[in-house]
Amino acid sequence: MEIKNILKDKGLKITKKRTGILKVLEKVEHPVDVLEIKDKLNENDIEINLSTIYRALENMSEVGIVKKVNFSDDARIFFELDKNVHHHYLHCLKCKALVMIDSCPLKDYQKNLAKKTNYNLVGHNLDIYGYCPKCQEKK
Ligand SMILES: [Zn+2]
Ligand SMILES: [Zn+2]
Repeated sequence: MEIKNILKDKGLKITKKRTGILKVLEKVEHPVDVLEIKDKLNENDIEINLSTIYRALENMSEVGIVKKVNFSDDARIFFELDKNVHHHYLHCLKCKALVMIDSCPLKDYQKNLAKKTNYNLVGHNLDIYGYCPKCQEKK
């Protein structure tokens, strides 16, 4: 769906700020924090201050356009487009690189667990840590 339509669909006004932020999120393939979003916006000649970006992200996460992502090794809040598919990531503890894992290794596990416990399970978190090839070389 086009960015403008995503906003319209959720009843949000189409602003340069919002479309700019969504374009950034669409381009990067990993969750980004507010500072990185600001950098990317600046590259595209869009000047927005951090609190404005943050507020726009909050608005858009309330209506389910973007999703907040927390990692337990990091105090920052990251954002990504909410595409209704969830991902797991490999984290490099040194350079903080994130690599998305294609499939969810817990999908079947969660299904079976729900059956076994009669719980209505709605989600899970899984973070995998380590050192990326580049950082291993530097050691
Ligand atoms: Zn690394
Ligand atoms: Zn999963």
